[in-house]
Formats: sequence, structure tokens, C-alpha cells
Amino acid sequence: MNSAPRTQPVDPQGKAPASGVRVPIYMDNSATTRCDPRVVEAMLPFFATDFGNAASRNHAFGWRAEAAIDVAREQVAALIGAAPKEIVFVSGSTEANNLAIKGVAEMYAGKGRHFISCVTEHKAVIDPLKHLEQMPYAGGPGAEVTFLCVDRQGHVDLEALRAAIRDDTVLVSLMAANNETGTLHPIEAIGRICKERGVLFHTDATQAAGRIELDVEAQGIDLLSLSAHKFYGPKGVGALYVRRKSPRVRLAPLLDGGGHERGMRSGTLNVPGIVGMGEAARLARDGFATEVAHLRTLRDRLEQGILRLAVGAVVNGDPSARLPHLSNVSFPYVEGESLIMGIKDVAVSSGSACTSASLEPSYVLKSLGLGDELAHSSIRFSLGRFNTEAEVDHVIGIVTREVTRLREMSPLWEMFQDGVDLSKVKWNVH
Ligand SMILES: *Cc1c(COP(=O)(O)O)cnc(C)c1O
Repeated sequence: MNSAPRTQPVDPQGKAPASGVRVPIYMDNSATTRCDPRVVEAMLPFFATDFGNAASRNHAFGWRAEAAIDVAREQVAALIGAAPKEIVFVSGSTEANNLAIKGVAEMYAGKGRHFISCVTEHKAVIDPLKHLEQMPYAGGPGAEVTFLCVDRQGHVDLEALRAAIRDDTVLVSLMAANNETGTLHPIEAIGRICKERGVLFHTDATQAAGRIELDVEAQGIDLLSLSAHKFYGPKGVGALYVRRKSPRVRLAPLLDGGGHERGMRSGTLNVPGIVGMGEAARLARDGFATEVAHLRTLRDRLEQGILRLAVGAVVNGDPSARLPHLSNVSFPYVEGESLIMGIKDVAVSSGSACTSASLEPSYVLKSLGLGDELAHSSIRFSLGRFNTEAEVDHVIGIVTREVTRLREMSPLWEMFQDGVDLSKVKWNVH
């Protein structure tokens, strides 16, 4: 999902607060989050004071950097129930997903070249898989990938997953939580199926971290991707969890070089970034219950307010198995682009993605069975740690007023209100 184009510059201090609420209001926390001030504080010494290279083994500058990395590695591991040695620091989830998928492909080419994933995955999973389909690798042909379909709520059929696993399947990659709809995959059940069949299980947990419980042991996960900027850490740093026993997962690296991160990710470690990610993970773990309750309260208030005032609006995804901070709502009989333009004071994502020339409806929403029109008229609200109840109430007002205004100009809305079943209308197309 792409954020809607904004004509007005973002002023972090906000405009004069008429209603006590500063605009623009940020509700796009699935795109990125504001760095928590405590994270920034933790990072600062590592730019100009403790600036050593964590790989410098023979002086105190290096030792201090290394000690800070060790702490961060423990903090990130603790967030997902892993051991510190199983954490490989990378630049973000795009890299973590690429390393998991391409690293397994090359290392396990002797076992097979078949992968299983899903049509609603993030592009950072789909595109590396498509790359493997196109490119011969490890002295053999390209990969074969089965992309499972989803139902109306965004769920994969576990029997279809079971049936798709073959003797030459090397990896199943299914995300923990979807970034557009918030739908949660039953990762524990998926982990069990993969284990039964001796197939590695990778999950993109970028949206899940800090918002749902993650435990690589209980959930049978072999590889897991994280990105700090999605949970109040800095951009440009992430981690891949790589299981070390039962089974020990081996990966071919994407980058060759100094052999950092046990040979899986060469390159001087981003010490301030990693320290920030560690602190963000600690905050996510320590404040988990409070944070989830806060997010759920705000999200439910927002959603109920919108559904009450914008009659006919529909929520996408699975309401009973969904991320606590996210609400994806379609507004029928409203032209999507006009809606996004009309609510400039609210920073959200739309159900349209910018391609080179045009606005394309979201492939995720289309996979759920939404038509192009409805996908275009969808909005993803994703709340965060720093949102308030007053902001939610302000946003309900802005959005529902605009929906009402646009519907008043829509002949389709008029017909719908007159009881015309629009799916049965025979349109006169010239
Ligand atoms: C944001 C996101 C990514 C990409 O993460 P980066 O760290 O920005 O590369 C991958 N997968 C999902 C589900 C995401 O939400």
C-alpha cells in the first residue's frame, strides 16, 4: 500500500491545535513508526562517543561496540523466544526475507527447488521467489513456486498447504500477519505441518512484532524476519532469526566479505541502529500487554465510529484473527482517490498502489475477492503507541464527513439508497 500523495508539508509540531488535536494525524504505523524517544536516547552515544567497529578486537572502542551489540542481540532474541546466537542482523525485512529465501534455495538445492508461499505476501517475499523462478541457480534450473490462494478473509486453507508439500519442497514462507488487512495466519498450525513433513518454515513477522505473541519454539518457526522501524526502532536495521538446532538451518549468504554474523551477513555492523533495535525490542516486550490493550481500544473505537457514521462501510480481513492496531475499511459508492485527497489531515494508506503510470488496486485486496472499485475505495488505518483517543475521535469526524460529502455527489449511492440492486443493473456501455 502506498501512502496517499500529500500536498502539504508534514510539520512535526503540527498546525495550531483548534480542537486540541494536531494535524496531520499519523495513522500509518504499518508503513513505519516514529522512533520512540527512549530508542533515540539509547542510540545517541554510539554515533560519536562509542563509535567503535564491533569487529575491532584489540581496543576498547571495539569492545564497547561489541558489548552493546551483544546486549541488543539478547533483547531481540528475547522478543521472539530465540537464543542470541540465532539472530543475524541485517538492514531490514526486505533483506531478511531475501536472505531466508535465496539462502535456503542455494544451500538446499540438493534436496529440491520447490517453494510454497501465498498470493497475499509482501512483495519482499513474492519477488525473491519470482526471481528464483526466473533464474537458474546452484548449477541447476530455477525454482518452482506454489502460491496458495486465500479466502475472503485472507486465510490460506491448511489442507491445501498440506497437499502442496512435495518431496522436493524446501521452504514454506507464510507471513505471521498481513500488512494490508492485518489477518493473522495460524503460524503454530503451519509450523506443525512443516515439521511433520520435514520442510523449513519461514515467516515474515514484520507486522507481528510487538503486536502479537511470537515464540519460535512454540510456533515451530525456523526462519523469521523482523524490521526495527515497524516497532518504534530506526529505519535500515532488521534481523533474521535462523534456527540453530532441531533442525540446524544453514544459509548461503547474499553478501560475501568479512564473514560477519557467522558468515551469513558480511559488512560492518550498524552499531547505533542495532542498539536502537535492541531497545525497541525491549520496550515492545516489557510493555506488550499495555500496548496491545491501548492499540485495540483505539482501533475498535475508530472502527465502530466509522461504521456507525459511514453506513455501508465494510471491514476487510478477519475481525477475529487480526492485528490489534489495524483496520482496513472499504467505502462503497465513494471514489477512492477523491476520498484520500479529501482527508489530507489524516496520514493513512489507500487500497491503491502507484505504479509508473497509474494507480493499481491493491493485489492483496483483490486476492480477497474485492473488485477494483472497492479496492480503490479502501483505507488502511494503522494505529500506534503515540496515538490518542482525541485523535481517533477527530479522525472519525474527518473521514465520515468526507464520505458523506462524496456520496452526496454519487449517482450510484442515490440508486443504492433507492433500493436498486446495482449488481443487476444492465449498464448501457457505448
Ligand atoms: C514493511 C514490511 C516489509 C519491508 O520491511 P523493510 O524493513 O522496510 O525492508 C516486509 N514485509 C512486511 C510484511 C512489511 O510490512
